Amino acid sequence: MRELKIWMNGRLVPQAEAVLPVNSAAVFYATNVFEGIRAYWNPADEEVYGFRLKEHVTRLRESMKMMRFTVPYSDEDLYDALREVLRGNELREDIHMHLVAYVVGTGLDATTPTGLYINPRRRARVAPDRGLHCCVSSWLRTADNAIPIRLKCGANYQNGRLATLQAKADGYDGPILVNQRGTVAEGTGATFFMVRKGRLVTPPVTSDILESITRATLIEDLCPRVLGMDVIEREIARTELYVAEEAFFCGSGYEITPIVSIDRFPVGDGGVGPMTRRLLSAYMDLVRGVDKLHPEWRMPVYSAVAV
Ligand code: PMP
Repeated sequence: MRELKIWMNGRLVPQAEAVLPVNSAAVFYATNVFEGIRAYWNPADEEVYGFRLKEHVTRLRESMKMMRFTVPYSDEDLYDALREVLRGNELREDIHMHLVAYVVGTGLDATTPTGLYINPRRRARVAPDRGLHCCVSSWLRTADNAIPIRLKCGANYQNGRLATLQAKADGYDGPILVNQRGTVAEGTGATFFMVRKGRLVTPPVTSDILESITRATLIEDLCPRVLGMDVIEREIARTELYVAEEAFFCGSGYEITPIVSIDRFPVGDGGVGPMTRRLLSAYMDLVRGVDKLHPEWRMPVYSAVAV
C-alpha cells in the first residue's frame, strides 16, 4: 500500500523524515497534545470531507492552554495544513489523522520550542457489526486534579494502555473505566453511552471524560433527530452496566461501536441493539455527507471553502 506523507512544520515529508529528537520532552515525556480526526470520501460528491474540524482545533487550543504551550499557527493555518495533507497525498478514501502539537525542549517553561505534525493513517473500523466484549477495568480513570482527561495529551493514554492490555490479557476486547468515585467514565479512546429503560444515558463532562465531539454530535443532533429523544447526562453506576438494554462507544476513531457484553453479562439480548444500529447508520450518513444536514460540520478538501 502506498505510503502516506506526513505534514510536519509546514512541509509534506516522507515518514522517514518526520522524526523527533530522543531528548525532546515530546519523545521522553510524551509532552504533546493532539486530536484524532476523520475525513470521509463521498463518491457521489467526489469529495473528501473533514468532520467537525473547527471543534477539533478549538479543543486542541484548550489542551495547549492547559499545558501552557502554543504553536506558531493560526486556526486558518491548521485548516490549510489539514487540507494540504489530504490533497498532497491525493486521498480519495476514508482516512484518520493525528494532529499533534509537541514540545521540543524540556517543557518546563512557557518559552519552550514547539512543533506540529499531521499524520494521516488508514485506520480499520472496530467491530461495528460484531460489537465488543468489554470488562470494567480495575484501573481507574485518572482524576481531573491529577492528570485530567479533558486535556488530550499523549501521556494520558498510558492510563488507557494499562487498562486495555489488562482487558486483553483477561480475554476481553477492551475496558470500560470508572473514575475515582467509582462511577462510569469512558472507554480508553471513546465515550460511553447506554440505553436504560428506553432512555439514552451518558456520563456528564464532570465524570473524568474527554469532552468528546462525537458525544456532542449525538446530543446536539442525532439522538433528538433520529430517535426523537434527548440524551440524559448523568452519573452511571457500575451495576447499571449489567442491566443496560444497549451500550456503545463513540468517538472520532470509534465512530459508533456497539458493546455486546460487559463483564460477561450480555447487554440486552447480547446482539447489537436497534437504537445503536440506527445511530450508527445515521452517523455514517452525516459524516460522509450523504445526509446533507449540518454542512458547517463537513469541510470539503478539494473544493476549498472556508470552515
Ligand atoms: N475519550 C477519549 C479518552 C478519547 O481519546 C476520545 C477520542 N478522541 C474520545 C473520548 C472521543 O472523543 P471524540 O468524539 O472527540 O473523538
